[in-house]
Amino acid sequence: MDLQLAGRKALVTGGTRGVGRGVVLALARAGVDVITCHRQASEEATSLENELKKIGGQHHVIRADLGRPDDIASLVAQCSDRFGRLDLVVNNAGAISHVPYERLTLTEWRRILDVNLTAAHLVIQHALPLLGEGSSVVSIGSKVAEVGIPLRAHYTATKAALVGLTRSLAKELGPRGIRVNVLALGVIETEAMGAMPAEQQALMRQRYSDKTALGRLGTPDEVGGAVLFLASLLSRYVTGATLHIDGGIS
Ligand code: NDP
Repeated sequence: MDLQLAGRKALVTGGTRGVGRGVVLALARAGVDVITCHRQASEEATSLENELKKIGGQHHVIRADLGRPDDIASLVAQCSDRFGRLDLVVNNAGAISHVPYERLTLTEWRRILDVNLTAAHLVIQHALPLLGEGSSVVSIGSKVAEVGIPLRAHYTATKAALVGLTRSLAKELGPRGIRVNVLALGVIETEAMGAMPAEQQALMRQRYSDKTALGRLGTPDEVGGAVLFLASLLSRYVTGATLHIDGGIS
């Protein structure tokens, strides 16, 4: 199916690993030109560049720490210089942290808020002049914002806040033809799980698969599919929504 996305321009944060990588590759395969960022030099960044070269198109993998507002300004400036506009912004990069609430320091609270929430806000605000009629903003949220999870009060607070940010921006930017949505993910199997000891991996997979209606975990490519939908005209009447990409997890 031709989603008519060829030549569209996208910024995806945190595209070198995990969910973001799946999203970047799905977009590139659909003909979208993608700029993505990562924080640290890594083999994954180099391998993503190579993979994107093979697919073809104008893609750029840029180093920028989203915890630093100056880096965000410079990242979006590079989108402007290279593409002149953006049709899609995906706020994917996120930091996770597990801390008992009584031991949660203000420093750690702020670190998680900076990367997961403030960065999403700054990315959208800086990108606004580049976003025109028909463009789409997608933020990657989480099912846990709705149900809660121990040791992650700070993380879940950021994911719940993305929903509020999205609903208000959908109303504020709707008259300009800009749609704003959230994808609330269940458990998506990434390299991080692959790096766990085999026994722990199997336990995690079983435990979370059993909680889903589909009996399995999701893949980054399946999140990519949902982003393609939100980037395309198929979703032209969808805004302010939280779409659950979670295999029917409970
Ligand atoms: P990963 O940790 O596997 O990948 C994170 C990506 O974001 C990497 O490319 C990383 O780059 C980049 N990144 C992290 N911090 C920064 C930063 N400060 N500046 C720039 N880039 C950064 O995460 P996942 O793929 O698991 O998660 C992606 C998103 O999906 C997150 O928002 C997460 O909360 C959400 N999510 C994931 C779920 C899952 O099951 N995986 C479930 C629910 C939500 P680098 O390699 O340089 O660190």
